[in-house]
Amino acid sequence: MTIHKAIHKGMMPKAEEFVTREHQMFIDGRWTKSNSGERIDVINPANGKSFTSLSSGNAVDVDLAVEAATKAFKSDDWANMPANGRSKLLWKIADVIEENADELAEIESLDNGKPYKFARMNDISAIVESFRYYAGWCTKICGKSMKLSRPGPHHAYTIAEPIGVVGLIIPWNFPLMMAGWKFAPALAAGCCCVMKPSEVASLSVLRLAELMYDAGLPKGVVNIVTGYGTGVGSAITAHKGIKKIAFTGSTKVGKEIVTSALGNLKKVSLELGGKSPVIIMPDANMEAAIPGAAMGIFYNTGQVCAAGSRLYVHKQAYSQVIEGICNMAKGLKIGPGYKQDTVLGPLVNETQHKRVIDYVKSGIKEGATIATGGDACGDEGYYYQPTVLTNTNENMKIVKEEIFGPVLAVNMFEDVDEALRMANESEYGLSAKIWTKDLSTAHYLVNGLEAGAVSVNGGGPPDNNMPFGGYKQSGWGQELGEEGLKLFLNFKSVEMKL
Ligand code: NAP
Ligand code: MG
Repeated sequence: MTIHKAIHKGMMPKAEEFVTREHQMFIDGRWTKSNSGERIDVINPANGKSFTSLSSGNAVDVDLAVEAATKAFKSDDWANMPANGRSKLLWKIADVIEENADELAEIESLDNGKPYKFARMNDISAIVESFRYYAGWCTKICGKSMKLSRPGPHHAYTIAEPIGVVGLIIPWNFPLMMAGWKFAPALAAGCCCVMKPSEVASLSVLRLAELMYDAGLPKGVVNIVTGYGTGVGSAITAHKGIKKIAFTGSTKVGKEIVTSALGNLKKVSLELGGKSPVIIMPDANMEAAIPGAAMGIFYNTGQVCAAGSRLYVHKQAYSQVIEGICNMAKGLKIGPGYKQDTVLGPLVNETQHKRVIDYVKSGIKEGATIATGGDACGDEGYYYQPTVLTNTNENMKIVKEEIFGPVLAVNMFEDVDEALRMANESEYGLSAKIWTKDLSTAHYLVNGLEAGAVSVNGGGPPDNNMPFGGYKQSGWGQELGEEGLKLFLNFKSVEMKL
């Protein structure tokens, strides 16, 4: 195999040593060979070449992982760990991730294609912050006592209990960040985990598992089974020993998971796709709104669930905004993730590349106009130009469906109700962004938008203390915050006559 040719020169030796290993699955605290012995090639999206391979798991491997997690769930080391001990452990995991931040960011950048500097700055701090945030929750988990409406003395209360063994399934666009959003609340609640990362980008999560054990996690508490959705994913969602599934991915797969989970009626939470609207009013601060709307779709090469992929601009501001976004798009440096000046990395793989190419072609066929971009680029790898499409309408596939690439569909409106109607014209409802200086317009739009997360005049990535989840077909339940913790807890009601 042409291993090192697929990796850029100058990769940190520790990261290179890790990525080029023959990867196994992480079960019961140790590297474990898959039952099938089959391998999955891992491709560098910057050049399309394979540099290592993953174990392709199946239902037998999932059984082993569930067995290990079930044993760990009941073990003294885990079940009887004092709340402050659990808190210290999560904090320690955050410290260990931070100590290895450069290496993790290099792995993430190579495997997913995203710029190293963004992985280091954003993805790594996101996972560190998730562990620190939920480290704080470990010592605050509690039930309540309540008065009942019946005569006689009684003592009534609720107890918060961990749900048990949970299945965590994540996508490839932010592997470490998504792993943090799932592991941190699950462990704070006292659950034990079986995770399947996407086979498209599993490496950073495998390294994370190793680091979590270095930090002192008891064996079996976290298990990683690599492989395909059909095979590993479906074995997790159907497994009787798993009491809850937390899934992040597409709406299509989310629906399959709901069906598969019916067997033992396991609890299911879903963070799904989006086609999020951005509304720019004529009074907006254009110096912030134009770059905000541009990076809202181009960041991570558009592979963001909450990407602002539909832009609605007031007629008076239309030409200024389109010109500004197109100019910005033309200036964004496209290149491999390891280069310091790269802003837009490649798309994650060939499938995703083809998907974006086909969507843009379909938009043109349906009558949209290319304002900038509109084509693949580069001599190798899965690059695509940041693209702005105008003359779009709500019947076009590029407006209705999630493209998951750097493609913005733009439309014009004349009054706020028209903007609201167009923004809500979607089966998705993950997020929405508003740009206006007028307080009354902002509140009117916030109240009218059918979306789980709304920002006014800019916002960062989801904060750990704010619940995040979708309306409509963008999901079930909310992750992060106290809501995210409660996804992993059962509340037992106890009534005692005195
Ligand atoms: P995906 O195809 O739905 O896959 C997500 C995960 O599910 C992968 O690990 C996948 O494995 C697995 N999977 C596939 N089929 C399965 C099945 N039948 N049973 C169980 N698991 C199965 O999504 P993706 O392409 O990785 O990621 C992109 C999607 O994720 C987009 O729609 C995006 O909007 C969404 N997303 C949502 C959020 C959010 O917070 N709302 C965040 C990030 C991404 P394989 O890779 O082997 O197929
Ligand atoms: Mg890859």
